[in-house]
Amino acid sequence: MRMSQLFVQTLREFPSDAEVMSHKLLVRAGYIRKLANGVYNYLPLMWRVLKKVENIIREEMDAAGAQELLMPFVQPAELWQDSGRWEVYGKELMRLKDRHNREMCLAPTHEEVVTAVAKEGVRSYKQLPLNLYHIQLKFRDEIRPRFGLLRGREFIMKDAYSFDADEEGLDKSYEIMAKAYTRIFERCGLETKMVQSDTGAIGGSVSHEYMVLVNEDTENNAGENDVFYCTKCGYSANSNHAVSILNPAETDGKFEKAEIIDTPNAHSIEELAKLLKVPASVICKCLIYVVDGKYVAALIRGDKTVEETKLMNAFAGNDIRIARNDEIEEIMKASGFNAIAGFIGPKGLKNVQIIADETVKELKNFVIGINQTDKHLVGANWGVDVELPEKIADIRLVEKNDKCVDCGAELKVTKGIEVGNIFKLGTKYSKAMNATFTDKDGKERPFIMGCYGIGVTRTAAAAVERHHDEFGIKWPLAIAPYTVVIVPVSDQDETQMKVAEEMYKKLLDAKVEVLLDDRSERAGVKLKDADLIGIPFRITVGKTIKDGLVEFKTRATNEMVTITPDEAVERILAL
Ligand code: ATP
Ligand code: MG
Repeated sequence: MRMSQLFVQTLREFPSDAEVMSHKLLVRAGYIRKLANGVYNYLPLMWRVLKKVENIIREEMDAAGAQELLMPFVQPAELWQDSGRWEVYGKELMRLKDRHNREMCLAPTHEEVVTAVAKEGVRSYKQLPLNLYHIQLKFRDEIRPRFGLLRGREFIMKDAYSFDADEEGLDKSYEIMAKAYTRIFERCGLETKMVQSDTGAIGGSVSHEYMVLVNEDTENNAGENDVFYCTKCGYSANSNHAVSILNPAETDGKFEKAEIIDTPNAHSIEELAKLLKVPASVICKCLIYVVDGKYVAALIRGDKTVEETKLMNAFAGNDIRIARNDEIEEIMKASGFNAIAGFIGPKGLKNVQIIADETVKELKNFVIGINQTDKHLVGANWGVDVELPEKIADIRLVEKNDKCVDCGAELKVTKGIEVGNIFKLGTKYSKAMNATFTDKDGKERPFIMGCYGIGVTRTAAAAVERHHDEFGIKWPLAIAPYTVVIVPVSDQDETQMKVAEEMYKKLLDAKVEVLLDDRSERAGVKLKDADLIGIPFRITVGKTIKDGLVEFKTRATNEMVTITPDEAVERILAL
């Protein structure tokens, strides 16, 4: 392709609305343009990258025995009502009506449709195992679309779904997908970590995410996930799922007797601990949340933090936020109290579901709010002064330097971008949608399912996050839009142009994806663009051509060597 013909406009500046490098660079280098919030045009260079990512995925999925099909982007509400997700999916599900007033939605994922496909097409265990996949648009009306392609509203996903006759079959299918995923990301030039994760809105029991780890201290970090990992035994998990050994509370035996004492202005745990001269771990913290519109009081040891996804999952919820002050006021009124935030306790709360983190079970002679402003109960004990809630779960956020539950070594934390996610779904969808097959003994059984997603657009953006420098993108060869760009320094110099054209022709004939920068631009502009766009190799034809030499640059390392045009062509052909 001649650059003079290529549809690309590079910008001199980064776009003002971009926070992270992949967003900044993909816009500036002319790969994407925003159409609406979280909705992008993938321009020709981007589309070449995306097709390469897709093809790597296709090859590995096909090799793993999966079969490609294509399922619709617009789906009828009935299927979602059958699975029970029409009600619970929330605002991310973009709902619309057709001209007959029938409810439809834009696909955020395809479990419902694929389950219907298998229900119709699979009769017998003899047709199992089966793995169906497609590469398709998704739409999620994300509350905060941001970071360009990393969190769009419309994006491209590969999603695969496995159907097995039994649990052992599912284990096998899962294992095969896990291996394929590792290979896919490796081939895309991305090192990933497979981490245990929460199963979220998709459902099921076991799930792993593939994380591209990004440096924690870079500004505007694109890694939206905290990944905890053990350096000794390899345990790793998303913070929404991570567990650790609990350090014991530092009980100092200060409050032997239960009594209500004044704690003026002690709104926070820090203030309260300071005032009472006790460690935070002898305080029982009580926080009010709203889960799917219902109030929840969460109790946790004062030195620990609530992990909101864990808390939400404990109520099988889909949406969670901390309660506002006016909502706390409302709860107080309904319960016959009038305390403000900071002095709330579980005792006597009306219309509030109460849950305790496992950390509070062992507390003795502890400090707790009693719904009286500027007062706390000290020396409290479960069953004597306050009832231990029936609902107890792990809702604690793991912290760095906590100890690994598998081996006791210290956990570390890093930021990660989730590029892929695999789930063991079990029978969640097949049961709800009555999707069954006939087993060996002639009995009808629901399919045992798994599902496996890769964000195609997010993977490409993650590659930019991992591979760039201050001059631009450094595409991994396997997903670069072109392999090499030939830059004649001056389009007015006949010799330079002749050599450039000759190399261009040789490479084209050899089916190499090559760009020739034949534009009448200043040399500086052309060289800068080549770096910005991030083509893995650049051959510059300049003054040294009179000695029969060109400059060969490897973008990944920015290494440059001076060689003959033939050698330059040879190097590319040898790749
Ligand atoms: P997240 O937690 O980042 O919102 P998710 O866990 O909801 O993502 P999945 O349902 O697991 O996403 O979807 C499979 C894959 O699709 C993800 O691993 C990710 O690569 C991609 N993906 C999900 N949401 C988006 C989005 N808004 N923009 C781009 N890619 C996305
Ligand atoms: Mg996910």
